[in-house]
Amino acid sequence: MSNGTGDTTSRTTVALVTGANKGIGYEIAAGLGALGWSVGVGARDTARREAAVEKLRAGGAVAFGVPLDVTDDASVAAAVALVEERAGRLDVLVNNAGVTGGGQQRPTVVDLAAVRAAVEVNVIGVIRVTNAMLPLLRRSASPRIVNLSSSVGSLTRQSASGEEGVGPLSAAYAPSKSFLNAVTIQYAKELAGTGILINAGCPGFTATDLNHFRGVRTPEQGAAIAIRLATLPDGGPSGGFFEDAGVVPW
Ligand code: NAP
Repeated sequence: MSNGTGDTTSRTTVALVTGANKGIGYEIAAGLGALGWSVGVGARDTARREAAVEKLRAGGAVAFGVPLDVTDDASVAAAVALVEERAGRLDVLVNNAGVTGGGQQRPTVVDLAAVRAAVEVNVIGVIRVTNAMLPLLRRSASPRIVNLSSSVGSLTRQSASGEEGVGPLSAAYAPSKSFLNAVTIQYAKELAGTGILINAGCPGFTATDLNHFRGVRTPEQGAAIAIRLATLPDGGPSGGFFEDAGVVPW
């Protein structure tokens, strides 16, 4: 299918990355674009979405903007229609959009709005987008879904003491990623045998807006695990939780 921008989507792998205007999501889009894929840049803010698309195209990628707020049913439905119109199917969905929820997150004084915001974007947003995109993913020969989780969502690491423990006290962000991990397992169980592989990936502590650039990894390094999970071969793992070094304990 020719769409006037040099993209031939009948032959090209088509991906959608949510929250791709900056940070790790942008670098995931750049990495998938470098593979010659056609990459949908999901982002809610028009100016920042268009700037990201322009930058990706300037780097040689085939990129297209997808207006997308993962908390909004109508926005997600419109994104499905846009991807269907452009490509007729979706091969890879990367659920990258995420928020900390902000506010006070020590459990005894946690800001309930922070808990709601984290769950709304990091969990419900992922379910909303995934279910809406599933009909397009089912048209792919090798569909993949990647959920950007965090090692702070690992119950094993949350409950470990000393150097094995991760993250600050967090009753919103960290549990939202534990919730996302559990949801990932549930999808993998239901989708077993369909060819759809769904996994959670942890990018590591990466310097982005999310942590006021305190992270120690570059966004490009943070993107690597998602790119690996997006490019899994048929028969690869599903329902797993991975970081660059290998499996993350649940
Ligand atoms: P970031 O730079 O803050 O980027 C987050 C992205 O999510 C932005 O593009 C943001 O868009 C988008 N987003 C937020 N709410 C959205 C919504 N309702 N609809 C659509 N997009 C929305 O953060 P990041 O560090 O790259 O994080 C990317 C993912 O990696 C997140 O899931 C995060 O939890 C995970 N992660 C990050 C780290 C780390 O150290 N940075 C570690 C582990 C896991 P706007 O620009 O419009 O706000």
